[in-house]
Amino acid sequence: MNVDLNLVERLVQKVLEQVDDAELTTAGDCGVFATMDEAVAAAEEAQREYLTRSMADRAKYVQVIRDVVLKKENLEYMSQATVDETGMGGYEYKVIKNTLAATKTPGVEDLTTEALSGDDGLTLVEYSPFGVIGAITPTTNPTETVICNSIGMLAAGNAVVFSPHPRAKNVTLFLIKAINRALMNAGAPANLVVTVAEPSIENTNAMMNHPKVRMLVATGGPGIVKTVLSSGKKAIGAGAGNPPVVVDETADIEKAAKDIVNGCSFDNNLPCIAEKEIIAVDSIADYLIFNMKNAGAYEVRDKKVIDQLVELVTKEGKHPKTEFVGKSAQYILSQVGIQVGPEVKVILMEATEDHPFVQVELMMPILPLVRVKNVDEAIDMAIRVEHGNRHTAIMHSRNVDKLTKMAKLIQTTIFVKNGPSYAGIGVGGMGHTTFTIAGPTGEGLTSAKSFARRRKCVLVGGFDVR
Ligand code: NAD
Repeated sequence: MNVDLNLVERLVQKVLEQVDDAELTTAGDCGVFATMDEAVAAAEEAQREYLTRSMADRAKYVQVIRDVVLKKENLEYMSQATVDETGMGGYEYKVIKNTLAATKTPGVEDLTTEALSGDDGLTLVEYSPFGVIGAITPTTNPTETVICNSIGMLAAGNAVVFSPHPRAKNVTLFLIKAINRALMNAGAPANLVVTVAEPSIENTNAMMNHPKVRMLVATGGPGIVKTVLSSGKKAIGAGAGNPPVVVDETADIEKAAKDIVNGCSFDNNLPCIAEKEIIAVDSIADYLIFNMKNAGAYEVRDKKVIDQLVELVTKEGKHPKTEFVGKSAQYILSQVGIQVGPEVKVILMEATEDHPFVQVELMMPILPLVRVKNVDEAIDMAIRVEHGNRHTAIMHSRNVDKLTKMAKLIQTTIFVKNGPSYAGIGVGGMGHTTFTIAGPTGEGLTSAKSFARRRKCVLVGGFDVR
């Protein structure tokens, strides 16, 4: 008899996976619960069990999260599903961002111990978990934020209840289930990462008010950041940005032009760190525009078309219209009757400081350029239009004194010199990544230690080897 051993092996593997899942399924469906009460209760139980696990276990579980995200079919599926469900951004960018979150978010190594020894004994200061954390995630980076927060929060010993944006529900639930299943298969407690089947404002409110949720982390716009900061709980607020990019007369203009077009068009400008307005010194502004056009910018000079664009993509010049957030330059131009090819990545126009495109965080590849007399004026204007968000700013210059001046005065969490904005989150720039950049509450680049409490353990009496 001829037996295809490969086929038998595959069938056995499939059956085992199903048995595993059947045995491991808890009251919720792999971390997804009908009510917020059930979700929080399950996360609390999971976190208590998690306390008994070693740091080596935690490191293993973090690796499990990285691996499940990087599994080809998962990575490709959720990158496409995000674009389909939210209608924002582009598949290739989502693949880059998900990969970045999975590979460059710090894990347990972030939790460094302080030790003090002396005549009175030995004292340790260690990063200890909060318990159950409630994390609210945005439409603009729905899966990236879940990946990044799960890694950091679990590395620090917590369980996490996610409140996804309802418009990114399906893809977020897919990811939470996949993470839970992979963690359980690796021997982790069930329900370290949970959510509810129907995310809603009511459910988010229930989560924020739940007494068992000890810390809140909001990644989103000003409304939700204000809400978590008013909750009476320890809260991390990662809010809006409006990153200005300053270009002075000493910059490498050809390179600056390319970097700005690439940074601004990354995921159709969805990242909160992406270039949102240019402030250029007058003497190089024409040459910058010329080079940006060569790099994929389409310049709109007709005031009537600019007004039409304001009408089209904003609500009375005050807020972006959701249906245009994360759309491509090609699509937006087509809506005002201008047909261009996909090589056009950015819509560029000259504007004054008070123009809505300068003032409002649009999150679409529309980039106004404001001329100023000199670099000091540019720095002052950049500080004004950043609105004190303390989020991100970019500068192209070879003048070390002016680079230092802007870095000190603007006080943003991320300041990129002579590169595209995404260098600031580790794409072509040194350092780790985070998708929760907490300007308002000051944690800045959040990582495992941001989701932990510093606790002290004092052993009285000599315990040193000196
Ligand atoms: P959003 O503020 O509309 O939504 C964010 C989250 O908050 C969602 O889960 C939403 O359901 C929830 N939410 C909003 N209002 C709520 C309310 N009243 N009650 C309960 N829940 C509420 O933001 P968005 O459009 O999804 O994301 C874009 C915004 O997020 C931009 O302002 C962007 O700059 C910001 N953002 C910041 C960071 C950062 O790290 N600082 C990262 C990504 C996005």
